[in-house]
Amino acid sequence: MKNIIVQKFGGTSVADTEKIKNVAKAVIREKALGNDVIVVVSAMGHTTDYLIKMAKEISDSPSSREMDMLLSTGEGVSIALLAMALQAQGCPAVSMNAVQVGIMTEKVHSKARIIDIKTDKIKSHLAKGEVVVVAGFQGVTDDLEITTLGRGGSDTSAVALAGALHAKRCDIYTDVEGVYTTDPRTVPHASRLDEISYIEMLELARVGANVLHPRAVETAKQYNVPVRVRSTFKLDNLGTLIIGVDEMELHRPVTGVASDLSQARVVVCDVKDNPGTAAILFNSLAKENISVDMIIQSYARKALNTNDIAFTVEKGDIDKTLEIIQKVKDRIECSNVFVDNKIAKVSIVGAGMIDRPGIAATMFKTLADLGINIKMISTSEIKISCIVAEDQADEAVKGLHRVFHLDCEEVAEVNGDLPDV
Ligand code: ASP
Ligand code: MG
Repeated sequence: MKNIIVQKFGGTSVADTEKIKNVAKAVIREKALGNDVIVVVSAMGHTTDYLIKMAKEISDSPSSREMDMLLSTGEGVSIALLAMALQAQGCPAVSMNAVQVGIMTEKVHSKARIIDIKTDKIKSHLAKGEVVVVAGFQGVTDDLEITTLGRGGSDTSAVALAGALHAKRCDIYTDVEGVYTTDPRTVPHASRLDEISYIEMLELARVGANVLHPRAVETAKQYNVPVRVRSTFKLDNLGTLIIGVDEMELHRPVTGVASDLSQARVVVCDVKDNPGTAAILFNSLAKENISVDMIIQSYARKALNTNDIAFTVEKGDIDKTLEIIQKVKDRIECSNVFVDNKIAKVSIVGAGMIDRPGIAATMFKTLADLGINIKMISTSEIKISCIVAEDQADEAVKGLHRVFHLDCEEVAEVNGDLPDV
């Protein structure tokens, strides 16, 4: 049996007909290597944004069902054009939308999750030697309602198809050359990683590395699908391979540094130090769908029987958060509430930091030497995040990138030793 490769091309890769012809060449090249090929495409260029704009011109609150009917049309255009381009270049191909394939999702409009993917029709086309071009982003429910997977969801369509078909690999072709140690716009010395593990990629995606849809990474991890992020415009470059942590060749202590400017800090002072106080506060926030990121509760001052609780939320959720705190104020008996909007969360991520003491200390010392004050700290097994002042974020990222030997001239020779600070 031949290996199956799933290739995914995003909106910029299929932005016009010339680009679609080029994508066809990349597909034919993969097939010529002896593989069965399934291609997942997004809508052309900014089509999805344009469709949303038109809907808003017609109604302030278009129904979510009709929005999905509308947005799913974008991918319908690209699949047909790419199948034509393949046929025109002599490669047998067939386009299929989510209904024809059977990409089954839950019945939730605009952010549905995939439940199951039928593989029989795709397999019968592959058996005939055809390339199957599948519409990303779309799904269908049991009762034939059209759904979409959320913005950027074509990545998830591709990875889920690769999982369902036991593909050898899922290649995500995009306009960047792979996954970098940090944002090259902040640090020109950022280096492209040859490999990164699913768990590291998930952490980096959450703290602002915008390469892959986080749900696509979760799906890849769940089905153990190797994913390659690579450039549509430089086909000879292999990009970055995302795999399981046990399959990685190299475990450097820190793989990436990221900063996230989307959060704001809220400090609730002098709350009652009794069981149930945090539960009241965070349940009320959860009920209003406000997701809280970092939470710190200070050491209780016994004599006063009070605590301070600090946490971060999305900047856009601040007004709602303050309203909710007002509502529960009497029950949690807090005094002042402070908001700090000008913060950044700077994180270092690396599966190699597990059981390796000293990484956190190195991070704190680096920030201290730069005169950067840390406002909050949180850690997981493979991530350490510090909240710092927004205007010091870039400097913090640059300093950490250098200290952990991620600058491009060094990254090739990393030996995993802890840097001397
Ligand atoms: N076309 C959809 C969007 O723009 C899905 C995707 O591109 O992944 O969000
Ligand atoms: Mg995309």
